[in-house]
Amino acid sequence: MRVLEFKHSLKSGEECGCGYPHEKLLELIFLGPLDEVFPELRNLGLEPPYAVFYDELTYRVAGRKIKEQLGARGFLVKAPTFSNAEELAAEARGARTIIGVGGGTVIDAAKYTAYKLGASFVSIPTAPSHDGIVSPIVSLFEEGRRKSILTKSPKIAIIDLGILKSAPRKLIISGYGDVLAKIVSLKDWQLGRREVGEPYCPTAEKLILDSLEALTNSIMELKESEGSLETLVRSLISCGAAMMITGSSRPASGSEHLLSHYLDMKLGRRNPHGIQCAIGTLLMAAYHELKNPDWWMNERYQLKMIREYFRRVGLPTRLEETGLSADLIMYAIVEAWSIRPNRYTILHKFRPSMEDAKLILEASGLG
Ligand SMILES: [Zn+2]
Ligand SMILES: [Zn+2]
Repeated sequence: MRVLEFKHSLKSGEECGCGYPHEKLLELIFLGPLDEVFPELRNLGLEPPYAVFYDELTYRVAGRKIKEQLGARGFLVKAPTFSNAEELAAEARGARTIIGVGGGTVIDAAKYTAYKLGASFVSIPTAPSHDGIVSPIVSLFEEGRRKSILTKSPKIAIIDLGILKSAPRKLIISGYGDVLAKIVSLKDWQLGRREVGEPYCPTAEKLILDSLEALTNSIMELKESEGSLETLVRSLISCGAAMMITGSSRPASGSEHLLSHYLDMKLGRRNPHGIQCAIGTLLMAAYHELKNPDWWMNERYQLKMIREYFRRVGLPTRLEETGLSADLIMYAIVEAWSIRPNRYTILHKFRPSMEDAKLILEASGLG
């Protein structure tokens, strides 16, 4: 088992000078089998009573064991909605430590409850599918629309690679998509800095650049091993930490995420989050390459290479692989900016027409 002391590796707000809050709630990351981590947890000042959140699947994978070992109350997360999270928060009242064991929905419901109750949050992901593992953002549905709110990052994350390894392949691929999406989101953020004077945090930027570099290197080495899985999880954690110190999803979510939100809205969730963001990444990388003179000079992050990474990890590079129609994609390109009018991205700058959308779709190589 290894313990990463996360808190001390990050700059403070004064050291960075960016104007963002630089909250550093995440203290420790344990990398190792859950069984080895548990004896340690008792000495970390996590206050009882404990509440463990899981779904039916993650209950069997790890939830039951954690519940029994800690003598905790257990809560079944039923739906990816704020109303379900509200019910759970009411039922879990009195708990001082909330432990989330699962993928995106369970982690977000547990994170939300911890925030509501002012309790500590421990994040135990069972799939490396998204960057919400340690981020302060909760993203759930409300009346059919996906909504993101700012809460608090976990105090502790426990990464058991043995559990993550057995996650469905689709969810692992989704994790790759959510990290590679930052190739676009970082450029959208820079567009906001330059054109509408948004604050910019070099510490968050570095966290994201480092994770992109590590992940693309690992993809090009083409080895499927625990090492590459660890690189993926650590990249997701760094992206989450970038959101923690800025107190915003800004560094990690640009136009490519807006396209994914649009698809969520129109379809309900069909593909895992990171796979939808990956589709958005190809489209918006193509758009930046057409219109933004400050797009990456570095070949490593150009559309051609992004398509290569996608091929290697099994992310879609053609529309046929996605089950989405060209029409839907084009509407997404034209309308997605309106989902979040105040988050400046390349879509907000140019407000593409249907004709532009057609060109973007072609240039992306998707269809
Ligand atoms: Zn994401
Ligand atoms: Zn900063």
